[in-house]
Amino acid sequence: MLAKNSNLPFIKLHMGRHNSGLNNEQQERYKRNILLDGVGAAGQGKLLDSRVLIVGAGGLGSSAGYYLAAAGIGHIGLVDGDQVDLSNLQRQIMHTTADLGLPKIESARKKITALNPDVQVTGYGQWLDEQNFRELITLYDLVVDGTDNFAARYLINRACVELHKPFVFGGVLGYTGQAMTILPGQGPCLACIFRDLPTREALSGDQLGVLGAVPGIIGAMESAEAIKVILGIGEPLLGRLLTYDALSMQFCTVDVSRDPACPVCGA
Ligand SMILES: [Zn+2]
Repeated sequence: MLAKNSNLPFIKLHMGRHNSGLNNEQQERYKRNILLDGVGAAGQGKLLDSRVLIVGAGGLGSSAGYYLAAAGIGHIGLVDGDQVDLSNLQRQIMHTTADLGLPKIESARKKITALNPDVQVTGYGQWLDEQNFRELITLYDLVVDGTDNFAARYLINRACVELHKPFVFGGVLGYTGQAMTILPGQGPCLACIFRDLPTREALSGDQLGVLGAVPGIIGAMESAEAIKVILGIGEPLLGRLLTYDALSMQFCTVDVSRDPACPVCGA
């Protein structure tokens, strides 16, 4: 059963420009969203008024970004300082062979705009430090993890906890992936579960293999989590770490609790 979750008051939208109604084209474009119990025209207006920041325009960001754009998230911010490289194309489906050498944020902006001109895209072409990142996320309702390393995730997690911004975590390695939604003050954060930075060789997925479909699947899940949180529907992965193994094709969720001694969100 689908129910509005009254315990999820965490999205305060900036504007109400779509509350007055959707135009004919939007009614048609988002028809299959609007038909959903829990979305409707009002929910679609909310999506169009929402602002989501995706950190990383790689494998996770391609998948999450495409689905968020298709769903009509009105403003998408993209943070990525890299250019499109040939070795990216095996999994980063927002980029094509013709985009080689282009900044990823430019390549991604072209694809998102071509898919859905309702979406405004703002690109940030440099990796941000903690201070810049804090300032940036005040402009957004929710942050989606599209990074490939734990150092960046820890930075995002800390800033989101401090500024009470919802953060959808996703990570992939090899044939496996993980996802969790962090709602500051309402459940565990990333540092409650992964206390220490993984060893140096595990910090970046750059030199490690990953099956392209895995970030596709995890990124699509992140987009679904983001939409649920924005609309306040369903049960987000709050206090539940989802793990996915493509080889056994098993999904598991593990209950995880907030750690009172957590250096980020603890007392
Ligand atoms: Zn914590």
